[in-house]
Amino acid sequence: MIIVHDILQAKRDIQNVIDTTPILHSRSLSEICGNEMYFKAEHLQKTGSFKIRGATNKVKKMVREKAAYITTASSGNHGQAVSYIATQLGVPATVVAPEDVRDTKRKAIEAYGGKIETFGTTSEERISRAKELAKEKNGVFIPPYNDAFVMAGQGTIGLEILAQLPKANVVVVPIGGGGLIAGILTAIKQSKPNVKVIGVEPEIANDTYLSLKSGEITEVPGSSTIADGLRASKPGFMTYPIIQQYVDDIVLVSEDEIKEAQILVLERMKQLIEPSAAVTVAAAMSGKLGVEGKNIVCVLSGGNVDVR
Ligand SMILES: *Cc1c(COP(=O)(O)O)cnc(C)c1O
Repeated sequence: MIIVHDILQAKRDIQNVIDTTPILHSRSLSEICGNEMYFKAEHLQKTGSFKIRGATNKVKKMVREKAAYITTASSGNHGQAVSYIATQLGVPATVVAPEDVRDTKRKAIEAYGGKIETFGTTSEERISRAKELAKEKNGVFIPPYNDAFVMAGQGTIGLEILAQLPKANVVVVPIGGGGLIAGILTAIKQSKPNVKVIGVEPEIANDTYLSLKSGEITEVPGSSTIADGLRASKPGFMTYPIIQQYVDDIVLVSEDEIKEAQILVLERMKQLIEPSAAVTVAAAMSGKLGVEGKNIVCVLSGGNVDVR
């Protein structure tokens, strides 16, 4: 478990690296959704997603403890974030990616200063390879969500929302492995519990929804949702209890709803967000949040899209 104190500490430790992103408002989206719609713009964050918050909190802590080498197993937003912060801190980083990694992802990791090693095709294979590499070279593996320091780093978004928009009534958060929502829930429910926090998953990657329903961690393997940041097959054993304790609701959105929301944000707000972020807007547009006339904050978690 983490507590709000850990998130306040994370805020101090990461504030010279991350940007305090703005909260945007859209009149047009507000009319469509029947609520005042606000957007926490983490797609404008360093490295293009919120993942830099948790990665920075964790990597800094490990470097304080004399780690001299960093590995991870994600070639997506977490891999880019780890690559960026390790390089900033002058520590070499290796990102283990699948053998068929896209060239754009490889280039992004390398541009931030990390090295790519390809290994296997499944995430289990990559994780064990990244852990093995870390062990060989006296380094550490940085997990994408199932970690107290990673969750605390992501939770700084919750503190920022409360400070930037005190009239917020509902905060809407995408769920992959659950690190983002676990951090935000801890920040909000331990300081202003009457603010609702609602999680969103794709219908075809509804592992957290099913886990809450059955009361135990439940797996949905191999999802092909367009929201590729939300494909984790199950919530983490550290993220799940926090979600179970605090979350007000979880809603599910279809692939078509996600695509429509992403395009609408581009057309009306001129903001390019990735499908994993668009799930929150899709949920608000669908009416499934079950609120009216409230101040809703959608967490736009990232903007890394291969537009070609
Ligand atoms: C990682 C990610 C998520 C999900 O975060 P979790 O901590 O895995 O729940 C959502 N959106 C984007 C853009 C991401 O990169």
